[in-house]
Amino acid sequence: MTALPTYDDVVAAAARLEGHAHRTPVLRSATADARWGAQFFFKCENFQRMGAFKFRGAFNALSRFDAAQRQAGAIAFSSGNHAQAVALSARLLGMPALILMPQDAPAAKLAATRGYGAEVVLYDRFTEDREALTKRLAAERGMTLIPPYDHPDVLTGQGTAVKELIEETGPLDALYVCLGGGGLLSGSALSARALSPDCKVYGIEPEAGNDGQQSLRAGRIVHIETPRTIADGAQTQHLGEHTFAIIRRDVDDIRTVSDAQLVDAMRFFAERMKIVVEPTGGLAFAGACQDAATLPGARVGVIVSGGNVDLARYAALLAGE
Ligand SMILES: *Cc1c(COP(=O)(O)O)cnc(C)c1O
Repeated sequence: MTALPTYDDVVAAAARLEGHAHRTPVLRSATADARWGAQFFFKCENFQRMGAFKFRGAFNALSRFDAAQRQAGAIAFSSGNHAQAVALSARLLGMPALILMPQDAPAAKLAATRGYGAEVVLYDRFTEDREALTKRLAAERGMTLIPPYDHPDVLTGQGTAVKELIEETGPLDALYVCLGGGGLLSGSALSARALSPDCKVYGIEPEAGNDGQQSLRAGRIVHIETPRTIADGAQTQHLGEHTFAIIRRDVDDIRTVSDAQLVDAMRFFAERMKIVVEPTGGLAFAGACQDAATLPGARVGVIVSGGNVDLARYAALLAGE
């Protein structure tokens, strides 16, 4: 592993994103503050381009390609927001993109990825080795592989959201960030440590997939089976080498919430704040509510990571089906 990225790299990423990524709003909720007794600042990445913070990391990584890399383009494997982030970034930067997606990926996600102009190659999740297939295609076409989280340019790109948040709010007492593979959490921690050194930083992951919590406790990366949870953006089996090294150094704790708590968070966002948030996007707020008794009057940053959810599924989750 090369040297770990630093906050200076987040600052450089922010300069590359300027004029391309949205500076997303920081929303407040008097109801949330009254009910849980803290002062919440919601950084709303559901309003980011393509509907999630993933645009930040993908665009930052692709905009660093040299001329030869640009000509051949980017390749990624993902059934979720990273696919759309790489596809859109490639289109904006005028380069080809190839995305490997499972045959049974939701039709809406396939259509969105193709809609951004990427070539989509389908594979069978049960019989084909996705990583081997990606490597073979990357070699054949000379394309550069952009992983969803374990890459310095990806994680420093993700860190720009918290840079914007704290620049707007001033120092915070605590920051809650959802956790899958740790790109968002590690980048956020770099920004928080630089801009608000006393701020506690917490990663929140689904109860069914607490590999991050286990890893922090064990001091090494723990691998688990793909967890069963409605938080499809956090169904990762393990943290990355770069992300774990930063999380271990800069994150105070990793905590978990249940799927029922995620639905409660989604419902609060819909009813009280009028925003559509995908299940994974509710992790951080669910974690903050759970800790509220320890945060009286505290200034608490909450990352709302994305809003890409099929409307029929969204309605069914909120209806308790
Ligand atoms: C990818 C994703 C996450 C998890 O991010 P990591 O960088 O993998 O930890 C959380 N929320 C949403 C909406 C995502 O798309």
